[in-house]
Amino acid sequence: MRFVARQPKEGINVSGTHPLVEAGTLVAGLTAIFVLIALAIIFMIEVALYFVSAEDEVNLFGDWLPEDLVTVAPDDDRLIETQLLLDRLAQHWPDSPYTFRVEIDDSDVANAMALPGGLIIVTQGLLDQVESENELAFVLGHELGHFKNRDHLRALGRGIVLSVFFAVVTDGDVAGIGIKATDITLRGFSRRQEAQADEFGLAIVNSEYGHVDEAWRLFERWDIDDSSFVDLVTYLSTHPETGDRIADMKKHAAAQGWHMEGDITPLAW
Ligand SMILES: [Zn+2]
Repeated sequence: MRFVARQPKEGINVSGTHPLVEAGTLVAGLTAIFVLIALAIIFMIEVALYFVSAEDEVNLFGDWLPEDLVTVAPDDDRLIETQLLLDRLAQHWPDSPYTFRVEIDDSDVANAMALPGGLIIVTQGLLDQVESENELAFVLGHELGHFKNRDHLRALGRGIVLSVFFAVVTDGDVAGIGIKATDITLRGFSRRQEAQADEFGLAIVNSEYGHVDEAWRLFERWDIDDSSFVDLVTYLSTHPETGDRIADMKKHAAAQGWHMEGDITPLAW
């Protein structure tokens, strides 16, 4: 018998599906893959945070300072007074694993940030703008809220969180990771994280003063005063819009039944 090779059918490599449908399937598939990868990374960070306890964090970062920080002299009046205020505020979170430290960053740009190990950085620019202790107390209380929710570790970014995780499991050192404050501040937090930090900050302020008067006054001034626009823009890049924020804080304070008016404590300097 003679073998006769059959020719393949015409158009065997041409799909019967419309090209646009195929393109759509491809895009949807790729998007699904990217979403899965993103979710996997978020999950890995949560797992890493689960294994890196706050105590580990304190051991690793206890006296760490970011590489790019320009600090003021240790006997600076505002540094000493801000640390004393922070110590008082932290007493309203008695089971906190942290010993909170304040450093002042010699920058004109108003900002405050929570960094690993219980370090809170406030800028000269922010201290120049606060007009009462109550205003400053809320800024510090808000940062304490980021520690409470461990946002400050999530904000480190995946690479650094995983490095910290490996430093813990291998008993290594974080000094080699080379974390800069800018790595953290540029990432910012989600609105939900910010709202939770605001609520924690208000609770701390209320415990300290018996009212929340002037807690959000700094933000009210920024809302109307154009001269501080540059600072406003920078603070907002890491914090939510002031308008909504003030409204949300007022709503929360009213729901908690906190007094909105009370004696204002002047700044200690
Ligand atoms: Zn914040």
